[in-house]
Amino acid sequence: MNAPGRRIAAPLAALCVALALLASCAHVNPDYDPSRRHHRPDGFVNNYGPAGGKPLSTLLTWFYQRARDGLPPPPSTHVKGYEGFPVRKPDLAFLRANRDQATVTWIGHATLLVQIGGVNILTDPQFSERAFMVQFMGPKRRVRLPATLAELPRIDLVTISHSHYDHLDRATILALNTQPGGPPRFLVPLGMERWMRAQGVDNVERFDWWDTKTIAGLQVTHVPAQHWSARTPFDRNQSLWGGWVLRHPTFSFYHAGDTGYSRDFADIGLRFGGFDVAAIPVGAYEPRWFMQDQHVDPDEAVRIHLDVKARQSIGMHWGTFELTDEPLDEPIGRLPTARRGLGVADDAFVLFEHGETRVYPKRSR
Ligand code: ZN
Ligand code: ZN
Repeated sequence: MNAPGRRIAAPLAALCVALALLASCAHVNPDYDPSRRHHRPDGFVNNYGPAGGKPLSTLLTWFYQRARDGLPPPPSTHVKGYEGFPVRKPDLAFLRANRDQATVTWIGHATLLVQIGGVNILTDPQFSERAFMVQFMGPKRRVRLPATLAELPRIDLVTISHSHYDHLDRATILALNTQPGGPPRFLVPLGMERWMRAQGVDNVERFDWWDTKTIAGLQVTHVPAQHWSARTPFDRNQSLWGGWVLRHPTFSFYHAGDTGYSRDFADIGLRFGGFDVAAIPVGAYEPRWFMQDQHVDPDEAVRIHLDVKARQSIGMHWGTFELTDEPLDEPIGRLPTARRGLGVADDAFVLFEHGETRVYPKRSR
């Protein structure tokens, strides 16, 4: 942590303690269904892992160790400084005109532009300079955006995996809601529709795990992940979290959201029998004693790739915001080792450069 970071760490920690004490009031889950095992009267839990989210004392221990040890180290093994990350300008004219080819473009972190059957989908859109509730503090974007939101094709669907700031950015949502040609349809986990409506966003479709709806010609399913949700100390696990499956006769795509490793992925592989492309997180995994329940490391990411039976996986949730203790570029070295360890071909699980687009051949499943 840098010097200004250290100066704000102590007051921030004190604020967290005060807010956590205030947050001990009871919540009611208005969508509680006792027949669903991830539902609770006061919110949601994971299928297989711990309930999601760490006690404040554990969070403070991590903050302390992080500040004491000066973590994370700067990226140095693979790229020289933050400017060393290559950023490509997407072929925007092609993307705007494309109506029939399946494409995937990595904007950065968990934000991908996916085009399937003429439908433009944006996952976990985050176009702000910081992934936090305010723009003067919090994790800063370390690699420039390859394209602005306004430069992208008009977005038809937005999928949101959960309420954390690196996945749900208010300014980006409001910009999308006023895009030329009308707002996209926002697909959100159960409970998040309340937050969206509070922002004045009405074109919202909410999903519980395994809900499937046909939207814009795509079969859309919300699927479990092992994670948690919160935007303030008062709303922990009040809205659901999870991944998204988008299926079309010519192409199928899976976005895993934010997740620890669990049997959920074997369930997803069994249910769908595989995907053409999966976006799976490979970053924000250290220290393991803190992160393991909620964020996979590259080895676990490759296990997810195998469990869900993806033809090709793209590593996401890395190289953009410095959220945890590993160097921002560490997945570049860790992923090939993980692939070799599990006998996965180099091209079956890849990392994109920021802004990189791949065009996929039409397939049927
Ligand atoms: Zn998260
Ligand atoms: Zn995240």
